[in-house]
Amino acid sequence: MTAVLSARPGICAPATVTGTDLRVPLVTGEHVRYANLDLAASAPALTAVADHVAALLPYYASVHRGAGYASQVCTAVLEKARETVGRFVGARADDVVVFTRNTTDALNLLAGCVPGPALRLDVEHHANLLAWGPGRVLRAAPTVAQTLADLRYALAADRPALLAVTGASNVTGELLPLEEITAIAHAAGARVVVDAAQLAPHRPVDIATTGIDYLALSGHKLYAPYGAGALVGRRDWLDVATPYLSGGGAVHAVTAPDEGGATEVSWAPAPHRHEAGTPNVLGAAALAEACRVLSGALDPAHEAALLDRLETGLDALPGIRTLRIWPDSPDRVAVCTFVVDGHPAGRVAAYLSAEHGIGVRDGKFCAHPLLSRLAGTPDGCAVRASLGLGTTVDDVDRLVDAVEWLVTDGP
Ligand code: PLP
Repeated sequence: MTAVLSARPGICAPATVTGTDLRVPLVTGEHVRYANLDLAASAPALTAVADHVAALLPYYASVHRGAGYASQVCTAVLEKARETVGRFVGARADDVVVFTRNTTDALNLLAGCVPGPALRLDVEHHANLLAWGPGRVLRAAPTVAQTLADLRYALAADRPALLAVTGASNVTGELLPLEEITAIAHAAGARVVVDAAQLAPHRPVDIATTGIDYLALSGHKLYAPYGAGALVGRRDWLDVATPYLSGGGAVHAVTAPDEGGATEVSWAPAPHRHEAGTPNVLGAAALAEACRVLSGALDPAHEAALLDRLETGLDALPGIRTLRIWPDSPDRVAVCTFVVDGHPAGRVAAYLSAEHGIGVRDGKFCAHPLLSRLAGTPDGCAVRASLGLGTTVDDVDRLVDAVEWLVTDGP
């Protein structure tokens, strides 16, 4: 990271990512270029993001309450970052952008503001499954059409305050038709929050035209560093809820307690109400820079071609099964989860790393209910390859060749 931060600004194309020339050791001791096919977990920072952060380091100072020049710069950077993130997701003029640590934090924050139960599907990442507490978890049907019909029925029956839905599955990459979903939910009086952790790095999102009420995302999946995310959406719920984190910066005024009495607090409006403590200014700035660059760099057609090459290659091999929730899904981001007959996922992933320098993820992907349904393996685990900016045809071919070797000649 030190080398990255000290890279000269302006020498990289706008959407290049760091780490593409990383070389890693194999079990043989030989070094090869790392094929990072685990971008759905965390994506390496864009070079533009690293340069942006490096340029801000000299201004590292207190934010919001400092009078010095560097403090003024930091405050302006933070508030500008808010605008950029809002623009990236097509926020309405009166929407609020709250900076959070990540998607999990954003969804939990909203959960503390929802004035009623939340309905969700059982295919969700644990972040969007567990944050909500009360409310029904609906089993997703094997087609999108049937799932929408079931959602309509459940919304009418339960009358939840919120429908929490994934923008793109972290297991299959599949997308649901969000415009239809918001229409169905709104007709039943429910708002919609979209977990965009996997959607935002791959597809342009416009919450205003799609009718999405709230959206959560993570910087570390958007080619920015760990530790910064955002919740974007309607102000009213956020302005009345008691913040789950109390402290400085979140208040309008605090009265001194009488002897033995309680302190009275008047909370600031959102977003500051939900950002107690010193904010992660560099994280927010990095996230915003990633949003700015990605606005012009997302290339769904190129990504679809890579995904197709990967799946066509894997499908041609014996004993490989790729997992799908909704084979009729209208679109997919570049995530491919598969099982290799007779080979536990953990061993496949370890083999790909040790013998081929390929990084994938194995396990249940924080979606245990979904994997227990789809994986069909003794341990319920599978292997996930996820592609994005910086993924090359060579990376994809290396994975297919390595899996072919495993199923034909391998141990
Ligand atoms: N939602 C989805 C769909 C995800 O894929 C993830 C992370 O993998 C999360 C939520 C949680 O993201 P974070 O760990 O950044 O909070």
